[in-house]
Amino acid sequence: MPVVFFGHGSPMNCLEDNRYTRAWGEIGRAAPRPRAVLCVSAHWYTRGTAVTAMASPKTIHDFYGFPRELYELQYPAPGDPALAARVKDLLAPTPVALDQSWGLDHGTWAVLRFAYPQADLPVLQLSIDATQPAAFHYALGRRLAPLRDEGVLVAGSGDVVHNLRLMRREAGAPPYDWAVRFNDFVRDALARGDHRALVDWEAAGEDARRSNPTPEHYLPLLYCLGALADGEPARVAVDGIEIGSVSMLSAVFGAAA
Ligand code: ZN
Repeated sequence: MPVVFFGHGSPMNCLEDNRYTRAWGEIGRAAPRPRAVLCVSAHWYTRGTAVTAMASPKTIHDFYGFPRELYELQYPAPGDPALAARVKDLLAPTPVALDQSWGLDHGTWAVLRFAYPQADLPVLQLSIDATQPAAFHYALGRRLAPLRDEGVLVAGSGDVVHNLRLMRREAGAPPYDWAVRFNDFVRDALARGDHRALVDWEAAGEDARRSNPTPEHYLPLLYCLGALADGEPARVAVDGIEIGSVSMLSAVFGAAA
């Protein structure tokens, strides 16, 4: 299976038909049909690592102040408790909680409802341990790699540039220069297959800090990279910077890229 990084952006994409949502749909149609999806979402940022292990994960509307239609959207994909146990085993010796209370947050369902609109594939989420450094997340991604041969689509959902404090609300607002530079840094490193630069992203200095004042939207990318074998290619499926400071870059990795 390929590996996919989704730049999910605003939940409002769910109510739109735009070049991002169309790219997400195309990613789902182009990939071999997985037997399940394991998604690392920026929106499940926890102490310790957890995997959703319930049979029927609920749709979580983890955003505020959006139109009612968004809160009515459901993504009733089943879970897969046996796969959750497999994930826990693969990530050992890192302890992984088998979670029964989370579900699918909008980092996951907002993109999967375009990639897999039937919601008929089992979907699991893996949380991001907020106490750990970038290299830890890359290393966990590496341990997830065997799932790819078992028909599981390993996905990350975040935004490689994500600064809501500085977002520009006016229509057609241009991206900040630092957002463009950091997005280009990621794009160029992906093209070179330079995982080290992407794990050491904070070395990009002020551009990195402004682009990700907190790391949770960047870190899902590191799980994707970790799950790759040496030399597997990356293809940017869609790119763009919205509201000045949110990157919509999505990428597909591996032979199917
Ligand atoms: Zn988000």
